[in-house]
Amino acid sequence: MMKHPGRTIKRRQHSSALLSKKTIQKFITIKTGFRETVVINKQFLPNTRYQEMGLGTLIRDPSDTMESNCPFHPNCFEGLASGTAIEIGYYTKAINLPADHPAWEKKANYIAQGVYQMMLAQSHDRIIIGEGVMKQTQLLPKIKQNIKALLNG
Ligand SMILES: [Zn+2]
Repeated sequence: MMKHPGRTIKRRQHSSALLSKKTIQKFITIKTGFRETVVINKQFLPNTRYQEMGLGTLIRDPSDTMESNCPFHPNCFEGLASGTAIEIGYYTKAINLPADHPAWEKKANYIAQGVYQMMLAQSHDRIIIGEGVMKQTQLLPKIKQNIKALLNG
C-alpha cells in the first residue's frame, strides 16, 4: 500500500492509470499555495515531501503591478501564481475571472516558468499539474505554449 507524503495531493489522483509505465513523475498542485511531489517507479520519493520549488523566483511580467502573495519574495511562484495570489491581485477568486481575462496569460506564463525550472532540475517522464487554479481549462494550453517557447530559447 502506497502512502502519500504530501498535504494537498489527494489519494484519488494516484490511481493506477496515473502511476502507469512512466518511471519518473512529478505531481504539482496549485491551490492557495503550491505543492509538489515526485513518484519514481510508483514509489513516492521521500525527500520530496518538503520541496519548496514554489519559492523559486520568476521573471515578473513588466505590466504586472499586483502585490505578491508571499511576504518574503516579491516574485516567487506562490506569490505570483497561486490561487491566493490571483485573489489578492484581482480582488476575486480565480473561479470568478472570465476565461478570456488577461490575468490568465500572465498566470500561464508564471506557471510555465515554474514548471520549466523543475524540468531543468529533474528529468521527469511526466509532469501532472492539477487542482485549484488548474481547474481553469484555458490555462493548460497556454502553459504548454509558454513552456515550449522557453525550451526553444
Ligand atoms: Zn515566496
